[in-house]
Amino acid sequence: MTPHHPIKAVGLISGGLDSTLAVQIVRDLGVEVYGVYFAMPWGCCDKAKAMEAAERLGIHFVVLQLDEQYLEVVKKPKHGYGSALNPCTDCRVHMFSRARKYMDSVGAQFVFTGEVLGQRPMSQMRERMRIIGQESDLNGLLLRPLCAQLLDPTIPEKEGWVDREKLLGLCGRGRSVQMDLAKKYEIKDYLPPAGGCLLTDKNFARRMKDSFQYGYRNFRETIALKWGRHFRISPEFKAILGRDAEENVSLRAFAHQDDHIFELPDKRGPTLILKGIAPSPEILETCAGLIQRFSRHKDIQEGIEVEYWPVKDESHLAKIQSRMLSEKEITLLQI
Ligand code: SF4
Repeated sequence: MTPHHPIKAVGLISGGLDSTLAVQIVRDLGVEVYGVYFAMPWGCCDKAKAMEAAERLGIHFVVLQLDEQYLEVVKKPKHGYGSALNPCTDCRVHMFSRARKYMDSVGAQFVFTGEVLGQRPMSQMRERMRIIGQESDLNGLLLRPLCAQLLDPTIPEKEGWVDREKLLGLCGRGRSVQMDLAKKYEIKDYLPPAGGCLLTDKNFARRMKDSFQYGYRNFRETIALKWGRHFRISPEFKAILGRDAEENVSLRAFAHQDDHIFELPDKRGPTLILKGIAPSPEILETCAGLIQRFSRHKDIQEGIEVEYWPVKDESHLAKIQSRMLSEKEITLLQI
């Protein structure tokens, strides 16, 4: 069935070159494009770059936030993980399913992406691409303009909504064709490919796994995993120390009401956030010891005084003497 004109399509844009080229190609075929940017909970790709690209191309643009539901996908991916905690196939199914719903809500006819066949091992192999289309309820309605000529024709091509001859047949990790197209379309400012997904970062993945194992109280706690040094003191208690002034401020802003904050009276050390309810004196002394280790007082061979208070009542300020921690102990605690 041929829909009423103009043909509308939802394009996933990341701020990278491939998705920008895909929009350019589809838009040049006379399709009205609705750009969707998926914002990761802990902020990954560059939203500003995606927005700039959408503005330059003169398309509609919306940001869809990935939230608790996405976290469930990361926790138990049906198709497994990549090199770290990146569940790329499930991640795409989740995003594309939401794009499908957005497609219906704006009365668009199909969804497209800047994917290139064989460019990424986990999610852009032919069979995976087929599964992703199927599981996101977009079977036949998911167009990949950069490699469409290497894939089975989709409904937009069969119905003549877009001219298959004008789509591309790119394959693999090479970038030369994309670079030539960037010159042709005068696209200059774009993100490097596959940059910035924290789930592919092994340090971040370790902290996230620790949160999955020992629990977290709310979604905001997982956002704060990107800042600071993390220490698992016991199954119930975890300490996070800022690595600079900016992280100290961010950690304080994202602290939970049940957390405690630790600082040195002279402020010559990091802020520490203790997660866990009703800490014992031993836990408090360990936190104070961690602050000392990462402060300007790390070479003092005796305990120092550290202040702490509950987030929910800053007037309840108390003091504790730090316990000297050995390097081995610190290494064993670090997540
Ligand atoms: S790299 Fe990250 S954002 Fe990209 S598909 Fe994989 S999990 Fe999703």
